[in-house]
Amino acid sequence: MENTSQSQILAQKYMMKFINRIPVTFVKGEGLRLWDENGKKYLDFVGGWAADSLGHCHPVLVEALTDQAKTLIHVSNAYYTLPLGKLAELLVNNSCMDRVFFSNSGAEANEGAIKLARRWGSLKLNGAFEIITTLNSFHGRTLATTAATGQAKFQNPYVPLPDGFKVVENNNIEAIRKATSAKTCAIMLEPIQGEGGVIIPSSDYLQQVRAWCDEKDLLLIFDEIQTGMGRLGKLFGYQLFGVEPDVMTLAKGIASGVAIGVLMSKERASVFKYGEHGTTFGGNPLACAAGYAVTKYIVDQKIPANAGRMGKYLTGKLCDLKNKYSFIKDVRGCGLLIAVEFDRDIAEAVMYACLEKGLVINFLKANLLRLIPPLIITQAEIDEGIGILDTVLASFNN
Ligand SMILES: *Cc1c(COP(=O)(O)O)cnc(C)c1O
Repeated sequence: MENTSQSQILAQKYMMKFINRIPVTFVKGEGLRLWDENGKKYLDFVGGWAADSLGHCHPVLVEALTDQAKTLIHVSNAYYTLPLGKLAELLVNNSCMDRVFFSNSGAEANEGAIKLARRWGSLKLNGAFEIITTLNSFHGRTLATTAATGQAKFQNPYVPLPDGFKVVENNNIEAIRKATSAKTCAIMLEPIQGEGGVIIPSSDYLQQVRAWCDEKDLLLIFDEIQTGMGRLGKLFGYQLFGVEPDVMTLAKGIASGVAIGVLMSKERASVFKYGEHGTTFGGNPLACAAGYAVTKYIVDQKIPANAGRMGKYLTGKLCDLKNKYSFIKDVRGCGLLIAVEFDRDIAEAVMYACLEKGLVINFLKANLLRLIPPLIITQAEIDEGIGILDTVLASFNN
């Protein structure tokens, strides 16, 4: 890498040491392109951890942000603003949901879902409060969402965690049935586990979970923070599986990089009463104008269909690489949420070698790469990225 720059010296001196940053400083982005402070150009297959759905600085987003910034930025949830209502209407009209709560992040949306489930339990299920989640899931970094997350590495530093979560094996309806008790109020799942390694459930699993929730009057919560907004080839992941949740959370892709989270529910699950939940910044006009512009573009321009087509194309190219390099153990994915699994722990080294050659790529585990590019990616950009990855993998072929 280059010499340590001022941005890196400052961050290392003053930032808490919560993440070991990759030593590159980005200064500019456009579409799938990023530039670092030395003027080097990159192709971005990470898109801000699946958040930059329309790539970097999409003109539709920049215009919406600029116009709104000049008009009104924040007034709190005590008042009405038009961007709030317009984004809520757009999301409701394009989903199976009826009601919306805006937050500032995914974790905060999930916190809202957890609180909503507890209200459901207290009002409808004699005070039931327990939420069943799955091993290997990821629901966020707050205390409650860490408790919901079925991964010890996120939980261990923070015990004791809030009570009321039961983590069961993923993709196992029997495990859910066994864990259900009079204390259970909800089941919370990612339709496809993202952070956990792109784990696709068997074809009837989510339908079985839906049927179980109906039988026991439990809320079914889909965490679509990573799978939603077109990434899987449909606007929302639940549409792929023919299962409607009662509650859904969104964040990442909604505003292509501007911070916003959404908690949505069906009318019957919308059980908060006035004063029971809130946020200062959530639903502010700036974030909602950004979310509206990006979501409208995603819907009008059929961006999910592009994600589906490009996902197939990219997966096909990765399968070609798998046939070429025996150390690629598995290529799996849906739409533009794709994992490449190696039979050895080279993912970090592959990531660095790609970075050197101008491809930004995400390594999730020691043996696992995740490809989550912006949803506007083109065939030419995929060919370019695959070319770099092929060259890099060739150097590991011994
Ligand atoms: C990223 C993610 C979260 C957390 O979102 P933040 O905005 O980082 O709080 C929660 N659930 C899933 C499935 C995610 O991918």
